[in-house]
Amino acid sequence: MIDAAPPPGSSAPSRSAPRTPPAQHPARPPDWHALPHEAVADHLDASPQGLSPAEAQARLQRHGANALPEPPGRHPLLRFLSQFNNALIYFLLAGALAALLLGHHVDAGVIVAVVLVNAIVGFVQEGKAEQALKAIGNMISPQASALRGNRRVSVAARDLVPGDLVILEAGDRVPADTRLVRARGMRIDESILTGESLAASKREDPAPRDAALGDRYSMAFSGTTVAAGQGAGIVVSTGRHTEIGRIGTLIAGVEPLATPLLRQIDAFAHRFTWAVLIAGAGLFLFAVAVRGYGWTEALMAVVALAVGVVPEGLPAVITITLAIGVRRMAARHAIIRRLPAVETLGATSIICSDKTGTLTRNEMTVRRLFLPASGPDTGEVEVSGAGYGPEGRLSWPAGSEAEGDPAAAAEALLRCGLLCNDAHLSASAGHWHAEGDPMEGALVALAMKAGIKPEVERARWVRRDEIPFDAAHRFMAVLAQGPHGTCIAFIKGAPEAVLAMCDAPDMARWDAAIESAARQGERVLGFAMMRFETAPARLTAEALTGPGASPGAIFLGLAGFIDPPRPEAVAAIAECRTAGIGVKMITGDHGATAKAIARQLGIAPNPAVITGAQVDDASDAALIAMARETAVFARTSPENKLRIVRALQSSGAVVAMTGDGVNDAPALRQADVGIAMGRKGTEAAKQAAEVVLVDDNFATIVAAVQEGRTVYDNIRKMIAWTLPTNGGEVLAVIIAILVGVALPVSPAQILWMNLLLSATLGLALAFEPTEPGVMRRPPRAADAGLMTPFMLWRVVLVSLLFMAVTFAMQALAFARGHDEAMARTIVVNTIVVMEIFYLFNVRFLHMTSVTWRGALGTPAVLMAIAAVTLGQVAFTYLPVLQWIFDTRPVGLVDGLIILGAGVALMGVLEGEKALLRRLRLFAAQDM
Ligand code: ADP
Ligand code: MG
Repeated sequence: MIDAAPPPGSSAPSRSAPRTPPAQHPARPPDWHALPHEAVADHLDASPQGLSPAEAQARLQRHGANALPEPPGRHPLLRFLSQFNNALIYFLLAGALAALLLGHHVDAGVIVAVVLVNAIVGFVQEGKAEQALKAIGNMISPQASALRGNRRVSVAARDLVPGDLVILEAGDRVPADTRLVRARGMRIDESILTGESLAASKREDPAPRDAALGDRYSMAFSGTTVAAGQGAGIVVSTGRHTEIGRIGTLIAGVEPLATPLLRQIDAFAHRFTWAVLIAGAGLFLFAVAVRGYGWTEALMAVVALAVGVVPEGLPAVITITLAIGVRRMAARHAIIRRLPAVETLGATSIICSDKTGTLTRNEMTVRRLFLPASGPDTGEVEVSGAGYGPEGRLSWPAGSEAEGDPAAAAEALLRCGLLCNDAHLSASAGHWHAEGDPMEGALVALAMKAGIKPEVERARWVRRDEIPFDAAHRFMAVLAQGPHGTCIAFIKGAPEAVLAMCDAPDMARWDAAIESAARQGERVLGFAMMRFETAPARLTAEALTGPGASPGAIFLGLAGFIDPPRPEAVAAIAECRTAGIGVKMITGDHGATAKAIARQLGIAPNPAVITGAQVDDASDAALIAMARETAVFARTSPENKLRIVRALQSSGAVVAMTGDGVNDAPALRQADVGIAMGRKGTEAAKQAAEVVLVDDNFATIVAAVQEGRTVYDNIRKMIAWTLPTNGGEVLAVIIAILVGVALPVSPAQILWMNLLLSATLGLALAFEPTEPGVMRRPPRAADAGLMTPFMLWRVVLVSLLFMAVTFAMQALAFARGHDEAMARTIVVNTIVVMEIFYLFNVRFLHMTSVTWRGALGTPAVLMAIAAVTLGQVAFTYLPVLQWIFDTRPVGLVDGLIILGAGVALMGVLEGEKALLRRLRLFAAQDM
């Protein structure tokens, strides 16, 4: 640390409690990593109880937010200019210049208007989309765990100040530069700072003064991720003064507005543009050489055709559709972190979900205990009460031969559950809730029901060390020093894991008890304790499980917890079934518990259960079949999850997978849609995920899939509308030139239609709500292109219909004695009216549009139609526009004929929809 800002706190004049002056020169920050942590605490006026909330507030005023400056966005002018950077626009501008030089001022003006309107629409839409995505990005602002006023609180990372005491656990992102005061098995992934991919081990003692950044083992740096273990540290610098702030790396850059689909469309539009330009050149030559057109006239016609046929507005409109999808998903509690997930969600064919909290409520209550029995009784204790309140009591079941007070008999288990525990209960407005792990909260409530005062008992036993819970070893242990200096390790965890540490337990009896509780869907936890003659300095897993772990632990019994399924999950699973989406439960819990819950949720009537050990034993090839057929995986490790995702993917599935821990990150990255829990998920899991669930709820995943399908539908609707309407009008003009008859519409009129329609009707489809029945079709194939056979058929059919009606209307107009100008006015109006009717047809690709709901339209549709109608009325009757476009006022009879053409088109296309559905020529998910 050389050229740094003054040490936080030391130079501040308004400190509450003046201290002895710091040893360092005040202008230079101390080498925090080389100081003993007590000195750091002294220096920053930090205390083991954390800062008081008032002091934290004052320091926040002084030091500013713990945030890095926003990366500057692209300048608006640059963004606007980039709208013109496009081969078609160059071509158009060249056309406008040519028109101007040739004296076609009106045409030149119209072309420039087209270019400008396009650029403005693109600019506004892109800006809106970027804004929407940014607003949603801000919804998942990182949180940190800090001690303030001796209470562990969750604060926004940006509110941290120097001197704060933060608690770091596996999976957390370090929120600021901190000097560690405690580190237990702590390893930190510092690759974003040092480039070193191996996680660095951390300790609390001072590091050498001249240590390089990667060797400062006493420090945790902002932006790095805790890979394992836990600890606590004093914040020494925040925001721009952190190491990451100084090197100016931006932790979270803005994601680019690009998805595979968008790139596919961009590439398509690009190729299409060139094809059109080349074809246009050919047509131009043909018109001049063969048909004897004047070459300015031919040039204008070709320019107009090119503008008419290229769907230049499509990428912008699709971006808007994606942004709307992201916003709708956010409203339903699914935050999209990476834009492509919006598309992929719609194609999801299998959802792998964990159980606790996602499929169940994660509101635990202990329902019964099994105590080491003596004599003939089973040692079973029933517990009454619901929720986390202390109301309820412990009793022997009816018919039991046990005597005495069950609470007294269970005392050792209750104490173990209370001490090997980090949760707290609190009551507000008569309602009790748990802070921390819900299962641990339930154990505190259990102790209270038995008459134990948690604060008193926890004060009597001083915690010396701990082994935090880890999904890989499935237990937690604390080393506590009690009254009279006794030193005991209290252990709780998955029964198999705990029983394995114990001295000759009665396995037959315990297995039966575990089975009986698990079969009823109860989550079972085992408890044990191990006495130490002399207190060890550290509690290690080897001391408990290793070969030298004599004398062995004493098993204290089992607790069965109920955790009811979420009612909305039951409905969501049923919805998945009709939508052709497989649901798999992948849990760390016991097989019988998982099976019972799966049955209650309706995942399968009698699901087969595969355990993590079986997954470990299976070969990759065997796992593919296994993963396909199995709905419930129990006692899985995070590595199992990764292999299951891979197996499912290699059988062609699009897999969404949930996760919450650090170790889940690889599986989340591997999945097509990684889904992290917003509440109980670690920062590492959120970073690896594409989607974050605000409410940790399975039903939210299904809602997001539905929105994803809607987005994809709407994009297809936009394409189904844009391509044939563009194609139809242009086809008519091309044929007229090739055949050598009068042009049905003038070049300027083509430009007018393009100008009027692309920014109104096409855009309206982006706002379409979900079609009824989206969740009654199977998922689309992952590799299906946008142009399904059905779409292609549609584009061809509608283009031909448009062309045919165009010529028919022209002929009819001549037959009714109109001149060319009047005929063209009628044809333009007919095309616009048909586009409106066709829009209504396209709004429902999968069902008839002739319904009340279909007739009403959306506000976006109605606004677009109002704008188009107004435009057409002006085009037909306003003298200025009559002069520009050479139009004539259309009379009542012709007006009715035009409307009739629109109705007839609608009738034909609705008939076609009904017929195709009857004939089943195309796959249901394509239509
Ligand atoms: P799930 O997939 O249901 O979320 P977990 O991986 O969280 O399962 O937990 C797996 C098992 O580990 C649980 O069934 C339980 O036996 C044990 N376990 C979970 N949390 C704790 C804890 N805080 N302390 C001790 N054991 C725990
Ligand atoms: Mg869990």
